[in-house]
Amino acid sequence: MNRTFTFVTLRRLSLLLVLLGSATVVTGQPFEPLRSVTYRLTMARPVSHLFEVAIEVELPAGDVSKTIDFQMPKWAPGRYAVFDFAKNVQEFKASQLDCKRHGQSGSALDCSFSPAQASRIDDQTWRISWQTGNQVVVSYKVFANDLSGTFSQLDSRHANFNGGSLFMYVVNHKPDPVKLAIQAPTGWRITNGRMQSADQREWQFPNYDVMIDTPTEIAPDWTDDQFLVDGKRYHVVVHSFGDEGGKRPGLVRDIEKIVRAETAMWGPPEFDSYTFLIHFAADDKSGDGMEHLTSTQIIEPGALAEDGVYGSTLDTVAHEFFHVWNVKRLRPLELGPWDFTRPLNTRGLWVAEGLTNYYGHLMRRRAGLWDEAAFLRRESQTITGIETSPGTPLMSAEQSSLSAPFIDGAPHEQQTNLQNTAISYYPKGELIGLVLDLVIRGRTNGKASLDDVMRRMYEEFYLKSPNATYYLRGRGYLTEDFERIASQVAGYDLGDFFRRHVRDVETLPYNQAFDYVGLTLVREQARQPYSAGLVVDWESKDFPMVNAVRPNSPAEDAGLQTGDEIISIGRKNVARENLLVYLARYKQGDRVPITVKRDRRTIQATLVLGAPDRFEYRIVEKKDATPQQKTLRAAWLNG
Ligand SMILES: [Zn+2]
Ligand SMILES: [Zn+2]
Repeated sequence: MNRTFTFVTLRRLSLLLVLLGSATVVTGQPFEPLRSVTYRLTMARPVSHLFEVAIEVELPAGDVSKTIDFQMPKWAPGRYAVFDFAKNVQEFKASQLDCKRHGQSGSALDCSFSPAQASRIDDQTWRISWQTGNQVVVSYKVFANDLSGTFSQLDSRHANFNGGSLFMYVVNHKPDPVKLAIQAPTGWRITNGRMQSADQREWQFPNYDVMIDTPTEIAPDWTDDQFLVDGKRYHVVVHSFGDEGGKRPGLVRDIEKIVRAETAMWGPPEFDSYTFLIHFAADDKSGDGMEHLTSTQIIEPGALAEDGVYGSTLDTVAHEFFHVWNVKRLRPLELGPWDFTRPLNTRGLWVAEGLTNYYGHLMRRRAGLWDEAAFLRRESQTITGIETSPGTPLMSAEQSSLSAPFIDGAPHEQQTNLQNTAISYYPKGELIGLVLDLVIRGRTNGKASLDDVMRRMYEEFYLKSPNATYYLRGRGYLTEDFERIASQVAGYDLGDFFRRHVRDVETLPYNQAFDYVGLTLVREQARQPYSAGLVVDWESKDFPMVNAVRPNSPAEDAGLQTGDEIISIGRKNVARENLLVYLARYKQGDRVPITVKRDRRTIQATLVLGAPDRFEYRIVEKKDATPQQKTLRAAWLNG
């Protein structure tokens, strides 16, 4: 009750300040800022995986509320599934600093800490009550053993943290400036995207949101290769848990090519330095990429020396660095500042992530790391993925964005049908970007492109807009804004395009788009001459397991279910190694006996194989491509 009363009083106060034209109006902050907030992070026993966090808060002198709430985020920016980081918090304690004046003139100050009352009031919030003074300190430990772009890890090798999974914010004071002090184990060096000097141990951040935008690595043995582009310093920090095979110098040179290609499109970025923080985890499971304002956290599951890891790293680098502009600064309205008490809802992830996926691939071509054929092969694969997915006719790009909390790495204890109903805004948005880019280039005879749309958006919403919130320069956009600017750049109304292909599920006009650049899309039947409607999980248990049954398919007609383990096909016992061999013997119309294990039962069924439904798409050169089409294509691919 007391707290509620205080809120109301402060709101009235802020209204009064608005009328008076106070600085409160600029920040939009209804609460008087705290005098100071200091986070102290220690890691005394790395093998315990327990980070120790202390937060010291000094309240305004006149604060009589005597309660304050600390809250752990439910999720962290860039990953939209809800993870409830509070589940790994333990040993929460609070104390108050009590100071008494004494001596003849009362000039001496005698201060001591005593316990303050701490109670957990919901799944993510702890409330502190105290009696005297205006300083409180809370401390807690966080269990952290995941190397990722969202979680954190502390072990004998290193500390790698993403602040959202470690640090509570003070409720109603996310906009306040905060300080972070890190005490590292002896011999471990600290690095992140906001280093002023090599031995830095303390950071001042304008607010909590920027602090958790600063993933940090602490270890004895990471490397730091550097290069300069347009006077900006780039760090490639690598922590390898496997053999690098001598490939690191080449990787750094190729990352520089990507930086040059992307800054050539956008112009120089506004930071002075940027850090690619890369782990080669060599554990065959940890893999991630996460964008930040002045850094990116990239984790590859393999070792750099291994086949495919080098290329996969460049793929992630090209994607994450593009986010420097698209999503970190030019951002949908809902993406900063954030409400960490409920899942994010935005319609704009097909722009924020999908177009970034498109440009990530296009930039590998423009950087000279791919030839034209490699780029077109990659886009062909994306088209095949989307156009053969059962979710494509059911879920639009916009609905996919709104479903992000369910599909962006979300854990599901409850079984879902998402493998039959959902599509990802990454590949769908990538194809919207591809087609939109070519349509704009074609309709304007090469005078404009999606590059211009992106630059205009960045200028209007980031560079030229007054700050809408405390968090960052500029203001967020609505997808309607993107549609308006795209139409302006294209020189005609694209409303119909967005209605049909973004908000609805109509197939994209691929061939209209490819025709402008002398290409065409061909559809070929995949090698399998029948359909069964089964998706099989190869990594499961002893036998191949049915991972999905397509709606209205032969598998559904045969009564097969998700979770069935396939024991025999055509009366031959199958194993992971020979399943494909057995399947390859059949053709459309064949009646195939199949035996599956379901719980403790063995079930016989008959699959009646249907007409082929697997297709592959290939973008190919038109034989009669005109010089003008070829010129447009060169401008598109070379930037
Ligand atoms: Zn590390
Ligand atoms: Zn991304």
